Amino acid sequence: MTVLERIQLLRDELNNHNYNYYVLDNATISDFDFDIKLKELEKLEIENPEFFDSNSPTQRVGGAITKNFETITHKNRMYSLDNSYSKEDLLDWEKRVQKGLGREDLEYTCELKFDGASINLTYENGKFIKAVTRGDGFQGDNVTANVKTIRSIPLSIKNEFVSNFQMRGEIILPLDGFNKMNEERVANGEEEYRNPRNTASGSLKLQDSAEVAKRPLDCLLYQVVTEERKYKTHFEILENARNVGFKVPKTITLAKTIDEVFDFVNHWDKKRHDLPYETDGVVIKVNNLQQQEELGYTSKAPRWAIAYKFKAEQVSTVLNEITYQVGRTGAITPVANLEPVQLAGTTVKRASLHNADQIAKLDIRENDTVFVEKGGEIIPKIIAVDLTKRPIDSQPTMYATNCPECNTALVRTEGDAKHYCPNEFGCAPQITGRIQHFISRKAMDIDGLGGETVDLLRKEGLIQNYADLYDLKVEQVIPLERMAEKSAQNMIAGIEKSKEIPFEKVLFALGIRFVGETVAKKLAKHFKSIDNLMTANFEELINVDEIGDRIAQSIVDFSNDLGNIQLIERLKVYGVQLEVSAESLENQTNKLEGQVFVVSGVFHQMSRNELKKAIEDNGGKVSSSISKKTNFIVAGDNMGPSKLTKAQDLGISIISEQDFIDKIS
Ligand code: AMP
Ligand code: ZN
Repeated sequence: MTVLERIQLLRDELNNHNYNYYVLDNATISDFDFDIKLKELEKLEIENPEFFDSNSPTQRVGGAITKNFETITHKNRMYSLDNSYSKEDLLDWEKRVQKGLGREDLEYTCELKFDGASINLTYENGKFIKAVTRGDGFQGDNVTANVKTIRSIPLSIKNEFVSNFQMRGEIILPLDGFNKMNEERVANGEEEYRNPRNTASGSLKLQDSAEVAKRPLDCLLYQVVTEERKYKTHFEILENARNVGFKVPKTITLAKTIDEVFDFVNHWDKKRHDLPYETDGVVIKVNNLQQQEELGYTSKAPRWAIAYKFKAEQVSTVLNEITYQVGRTGAITPVANLEPVQLAGTTVKRASLHNADQIAKLDIRENDTVFVEKGGEIIPKIIAVDLTKRPIDSQPTMYATNCPECNTALVRTEGDAKHYCPNEFGCAPQITGRIQHFISRKAMDIDGLGGETVDLLRKEGLIQNYADLYDLKVEQVIPLERMAEKSAQNMIAGIEKSKEIPFEKVLFALGIRFVGETVAKKLAKHFKSIDNLMTANFEELINVDEIGDRIAQSIVDFSNDLGNIQLIERLKVYGVQLEVSAESLENQTNKLEGQVFVVSGVFHQMSRNELKKAIEDNGGKVSSSISKKTNFIVAGDNMGPSKLTKAQDLGISIISEQDFIDKIS
C-alpha cells in the first residue's frame, strides 16, 4: 500500500466512524482506537504535506483564528418563513397554494422547526467548500473554519448524490450539551449562558475555531438547493441526503391534507419537550420540487412553505414604568419596563407597547400586573392586564406629549398610529439613527464603521448628518476612543467605497419615511435619478405602480425640505450614485410597457427568475395570479391544469419560452 492509499484509507475509516457516531448515534469504534487512527493520520499528513486536504478528518480540531468574518453573497437568497398560528391559517395557506398551482391533489412534508442559527453549506463535486450564516438573507458571514469542527457535518459525501448543491440547516446546541456547558461555567464561577439558541449562534462567531471544536454543537439539515433535477420531491432529496451522510432528522413526515398536517402538529406540541433539542414549531412544505418552483417567493418568504408556531409561553409580572424610545424617523415607541421574569428560557425586562392606541385599548398602566408572551420575536409583548391585581390608586396612562430626548412637542397625523418627534435635525437619536441606517448592510454597506462609532462621532461633533461622513479625515478619527490608525483607515476606506453603491440602495439609505428596500427599487427603476424623483409631483408619484398616497406624500415632503435638498447636493458633489448607472440601463427597453405577464411551469433556456427579470427589464409587469388584467402567460412544461383552463376562459394568450425570447430580442 502506498502512503497515499494508507492516508485515504484512514480518512475514509475515520469519516465513517464520525458518521456512525455523530449522525447515526451508533458508536462503531472505541474512543481510544479512534484516537490511535487519528494520530497515525496526523503523522502521515505532516510527513507528506503534498497530500494535505482541508477536508481531512484531522482538520476538525480547529485552530484557525478568524479576526473578521468575511461577508459572502448567497448564491440563492435565504428567505424567512411566513408564520401561522391556527388551523384556519393553514387552511388559508393550502387554498393559496392550490390556487397558485391550479390543482388540489397536493402532498406536503411536515418537519420540526429547529431553533438555532441557520446555515448554508456549499458542496462542490462531493466536497464541503464553505459555510455561511444567513445574515440578512442576501449575504452572510463566512464561518467555514468554525463549522468544520462540527463532527456531524460531512466534509466529503459518501456516495452518489447531486454534484453541486447547497445544504441548508440549523446549527443547534442540544439541551444536554448546553446544560453541561453551563455546569462547567458555574463550577468556574462564570455566569450561565441564557439559552441554547443564542449560545449556538454566538459559538459560530467565536474567533478561535479550537474553542468552537470544544462545544457540543450539532447541525440538523432540512433543505437541499440545487439546479440539478435529479430528484422529484423534497422528501426524496432529503432521504438521499441522509443516505450520503447528512443529519436529516427522521421526524420528517408526509401528509396529504391539512388534517394530517394537524395530526403532526398536535403530536409534537405535546412531545416536543421529550426531544433532545429545542423546537418552536413545525414547518410545512409543498413536497413536489417542480411545484415549489412554480409557486416561487414573495419578497420575504417562499409561497411553498409555512411555519406553524406552537403556542407561546406566557407569564405574568409587574410593569414598573412606561418609557419612550425615539427611532431614526422620529417615531416614538412606548416601552414597558418590567420586573425581570423568566420566560421561554430568557430573562425578560422589557416589552414593546407599540403605540398609544395599543396602550389605551388594553388600558395598560404603570404598576399593573400584566401577562407577557414571547413568540418568535425578540421583544416580547403584553397580552393583557390582570385587573384583579390593579392597585386602588391606579391612574390611567397619560401618553407622552413631548420628546423624551429633545423635549419637542410630539405630533401625530391622521391615520397614523404612531406619534413622531418632528425635530428631525436636532433630536440626537434621530440624527444617529438616520446615519446608522445609512451605513447599514442593505443600504450603503459601509465596512469598518459600526453603530456605536456613529454615535461617538456625533457626540464628538464630527458628524451631524450622513453627508458629513464623506468629509471625515483619518486624522480626525484616530484620537477617538478605541480607534487606532488601522481601524481609522479602514473606516475612511469603507466610506470611500460606498460611492460605488448603486442608486436603488442609496435611495433606500436616505431613510425617507415609508421608502423601504422594495419601494426604493421600484422608484429607482421608474425615475432613474434622484433629480427626477425629487421634482416629481404627487400625481406623478401615485401613478407609479404600487406607490400609494402615504409614500407619495412622504417623498413630496422630503423633496420640499431645504435641509434635504442641501444634503443631496452634497452627496452629488462627493460622487455618491444618485442615478441609475449606464450599465444597468443596458438591456432595458420599453418593449413590454403596460403588459402584464404570468409565468407558469418549468423552463429550459432561462431560470424562472431570469425570465421574470427579463420581463421587468423590458418594462413589463410580473403578476403571480391570472386575472382579467393578464396579457400573456409564459408557459413552460407542466403548467397546472386549472390555470390553463382559466387562461383559456379569459382568452389570454399563452406563449412559449421561445416566443417570449423572440418578443424581447
Ligand atoms: P424565521 O426566522 O422565523 O423567519 O424562520 C425561518 C427560519 O426557520 C429559517 O431561516 C431556518 O433557519 C429555520 N428553520 C428551522 N427549521 C426549519 C425547517 N425544518 N425548514 C425550514 N426552515 C427551518
Ligand atoms: Zn426629539
